[in-house]
Amino acid sequence: MRTPDYWKCIEEECQDDKRYNYKGLCRSCTQYDDNGKVVEAVSRVKIHKDGTPYKQVENTRKAVTLQDFKDFRRQNRRLTHKQVEALKAAQAHTVAQAQQDMPEDVSDMPIDTDVMPIGESLGEEE
Ligand SMILES: [Zn+2]
Repeated sequence: MRTPDYWKCIEEECQDDKRYNYKGLCRSCTQYDDNGKVVEAVSRVKIHKDGTPYKQVENTRKAVTLQDFKDFRRQNRRLTHKQVEALKAAQAHTVAQAQQDMPEDVSDMPIDTDVMPIGESLGEEE
């Protein structure tokens, strides 16, 4: 069975000693201006049945570790089938482009001129 939550202002100089069963601003500590607008909000804190406040949860946000980063990377690497296909297509396109460019790139390289005489000499031997 779920125990009900209690909320209480834990400000040291608080006039309000009551426990509330809902969260809210402490009427005693919260400062309002003349128009009833909140100037300084003081929230009640969740307390245990015995009146001790719950541990603050503000500092539970841990620093990002290398493992967190690796996990994040691993998660991102899990691509959908569609994404994999798109990636393959993009890669194939890049490879095709590279192969198209290659003859131009290597045409001036010495190896081509070396191959040619061999081919010619072979032709002459036949
Ligand atoms: Zn208070």
